[in-house]
This record gives sequence, structure tokens and C-alpha cells, in this order.
Amino acid sequence: MKNEIKDTGWNLDNSYARLPESFYKNHHPTEVRSPKLIIFNDLLAASLGLNVQELRSENGIAVFAGNSIPEGAFPLAQAYAGHQFGHFAMLGDGRALLLGEQITPLGERFDIQLKGSGRTPYSRGGDGRATLGPMLREYIISEAMHALGIPTTRSLAVVTTGESVMRETHLPGAILTRVATSHLRFGTFQYVSQWGTADELKVLADYAIKRHFPEIEADENRYLSLLQEVIKLQAGLIAKWQSVGFIHGVMNTDNMTISGETIDYGPCAFMDEYDTSTVFSSIDRQGRYAYGNQPVIGGWNLARFAESLLPILHEDREQALKLAQDSISGYLDLYHQNWLTEMRSKLGIFGEETQDEALIEELLGMMQKYRADFTNTFRALTFGEQENTDMFGTKEYVQWEELWKARLGRQQESTESSKALMKSSNPAVIPRNHRVEEALEAAVEKGDYSVMERLLDVLSDPYALAVDHEDYCKPPEPSNRPYQTFCGT
Ligand code: AMP
Ligand code: MG
Repeated sequence: MKNEIKDTGWNLDNSYARLPESFYKNHHPTEVRSPKLIIFNDLLAASLGLNVQELRSENGIAVFAGNSIPEGAFPLAQAYAGHQFGHFAMLGDGRALLLGEQITPLGERFDIQLKGSGRTPYSRGGDGRATLGPMLREYIISEAMHALGIPTTRSLAVVTTGESVMRETHLPGAILTRVATSHLRFGTFQYVSQWGTADELKVLADYAIKRHFPEIEADENRYLSLLQEVIKLQAGLIAKWQSVGFIHGVMNTDNMTISGETIDYGPCAFMDEYDTSTVFSSIDRQGRYAYGNQPVIGGWNLARFAESLLPILHEDREQALKLAQDSISGYLDLYHQNWLTEMRSKLGIFGEETQDEALIEELLGMMQKYRADFTNTFRALTFGEQENTDMFGTKEYVQWEELWKARLGRQQESTESSKALMKSSNPAVIPRNHRVEEALEAAVEKGDYSVMERLLDVLSDPYALAVDHEDYCKPPEPSNRPYQTFCGT
């Protein structure tokens, strides 16, 4: 007899489906006409214990298209709420379905989710579909983030559906298979807190603890520990975003994970010139999610998460509020410590001196004033080169450099260790917007995937500077600016 599990490597469990019924709706993907595999992540597939060859076959592809349900899967749409640009709303998976959780050969558990697989009970007015450009964009940027060492959901495959999807024009439909340690969002807690019982909230919190923080299970107040762990992860995550110039673009509470993974690569983009007010998203007119605002918004989102936990933090509401406030009030300081660590590493600094912060701020101030390229400036400092920008020629810079060199001179560690630290903290290549666009244009308009494949290859080793990758380090030509990203993809 054919053993499907052995053939394909799918080894799915469905712990989410064992949670209270109100947490989700069972739902099947809508069949699509003629699926075609556009890109497949062989390395990720292998690490999940999947059979690469089988999954690249017609039967394997049918799973990524939603035309076939692998054994053990139990497709469901997750319910969640969220604050979108500050306004609370009921949301849920409107165009995504959780197939199940893949148990890897090492015993780890990863959500396998189809994004763009058709309408669900949470679709509201939407068509439940996704288009090729944005799905490839998520694939490229999420995999680049992973290679940069930033916690993120991963991308396993993109298939086209053979159907067109109506946006401003007809566009090719596509489905992304997303992999995550879970899809628990701040908004999942907000949903249960708003419409469920305290017991259901405990079930959700216990589930999150079991999946992400088993070490706090026996804590005296494990729900308070959960809040504190999530605060820690977010503080670390956002510091990492800042350190590479990543702008998420839509930091709504439904797009923030309990696991501390970056999720939802809609309108995100990397900053070229350093400017804290940078916003790429066309709908973010007030700059709520601007680069310089991300840390504060992280705190705002955590406060909403803490509020959602109030019913289980303490039986006395006042006490619960105090516990939540005390935890939240520590966030900004924690973020700041994480950020200082990231920035010290970018400057090759070991240990701590009180003047470090002023040194970092002074450099950033100059970079903002002279509109220096964020990535290339730190890379130039790493290699002791002078980037071809106005900043390096100034007296201000020369004075700053003296202070920096003096700071490095005061530490025990050798110049080589300092340089090694900088090399591993300052990427040579990031997914520059004009490069990503170029790859997407070739893929979507010409069916030429080679540009994207080469870009993915370069981005897979972002801290190495291969000579033939130098072209990928160049900032965009003025004609490619200002860059804008769009929601509603
Ligand atoms: P996002 O802006 O991607 O975070 O999505 C916000 C909400 O809109 C989520 O509930 C999504 O599931 C839903 N959504 C986004 N696009 C679609 C679509 N094409 N059809 C149905 N729901 C959608
Ligand atoms: Mg979302």
C-alpha cells in the first residue's frame, strides 16, 4: 500500500483544531484551475522533513494550490481581531488557511499556512485571493530577513493558480505557503478577550505557553510571565528591525506575533538613506508606522496585548491593571538596551561605556543630515572606507571618527575582533527596493524568474561581500525614488 506520509514527508498534527470551536472555522481551500510551481524552498522543505522531489511533482504542487489536502491536515481559518491604524476590528484569516502543524524529524512544530487560498468565513468583502507579485515579494523579503538573522515567518512555496485576480487590473493569482512557529497574534488574544470567556482566554494562553514558552509553565503567575516573555521578544525583534533599516509598514496588532517573528510582508520595505521619518506605505499618510516610530508603536501594541490578558492576570481588576502597567513600563527601556547592543555591534564596540549612546546618536544625526545610505555607511565603516557621500568629507565626521577610534582603542579586544563583529552586524546586501521591483517585474510581466533567483541567491548570504555582488549594494537611482508600497494586495 502506498504510504503517503513516507512519500511526501507530510507529518501533520492539528493542535489548533483541538482548541475551543470559537477560535476558528473549519474550511477547505477553493480549488484552482491550473497550478504551476513558481518557486520552492528546497532547504526549508528538507529541514521540515519534507520530500523535495515528491513535493515538486504534480501531486505535491496540488497541496500548495489547495487542490489536494495532505493526509493529517485539517484546514481551518483562524479567528482574530486587531487594532488597524489604532482602530479595533474583527478580522480573522480572510484569505489564508492553516493546513496543520508539521512535526519535523527533530520533533519541532511549524504551522503550514496557505495564503491566497480562497474565501473563508472571515473574508468580509474580500475575494480571498492573492496575486503573484506580492506573494513573491513576501517570499523574497521573508527569506532575506531569515538570512539576516531576524526572526520571521518563512516561505516554502509560491504557486500560480492559472486564474486571474481583479485588482486595479487583472493580475495572475498566486498562493504562498507560509511556515511559522505559530500564527498566534496579539489579535488572537484580543479576539478571545473581547468575545470569549476568561476560561477560553486561559486555554489560549496555556496553548501559547506550551508552544512558545514551556519554561514558564510552572511559574507562580504564568500569564504574567507570558506577557513579560512577549515584551522581551518584541523588544529584541524591533531593535533588530531598526538595526537593518527594516520598515514593517503595517504594525497593526493582528500583524504582531506572540512568537516574536516578523509576519505579514505587505507594505514593508528597507530604508536606503537614513531618515527616521521614512514611510513607504501609500496608506500610512500620518507616518504612524514610520521607521523612527516603530519602537514606540511596539509599546502601544504590547499595551493592547496586556489589556487583552487583564481578565487572567489577576482576579482583582485593579491588581491586574497594576501588573500589566508595571510590565509594559519596562518595555521601552528593554527595547533601548537591545537597540544599544545592536548599534554597539555595528560600530565594533564590545562592553559598555556611558558615552556610547552619544557616539551612536551623533553618527545617526550626521547620517540623517547628509542623507547617508544606512547600509552602505556602516559597511564603509566596517572596511575603513569612505563612502562616496557628503558626510565622509566633513569636519564633523572626522571629529566623530576620532572619538570612535578612541573608543575602540579603549577596549581590550583586538582590531580584528572588532572588525569581525562589524562584519557580522552590518549586512553588505539588503533587499533594496529597486532590486526587488526589478525581480518582480521580470517574473510577473515576462515570466522570467532568473532575476529573482539570482537576487535570492545574493540575499541568502547578506554579510558576505562577494565581488560580483557589488551591484546589489548600490542605492537606487534618483529616478527610482521615492519608493511606495501598497496594501490591498
Ligand atoms: P493584512 O492587511 O494583510 O494584515 O490583512 C488584514 C485583514 O484583511 C486580514 O483579516 C486578512 O485576512 C484580510 N484580507 C486581506 N486581503 C484579503 C482578501 N483578498 N480577501 C479576504 N480577506 C483579505
Ligand atoms: Mg495581516
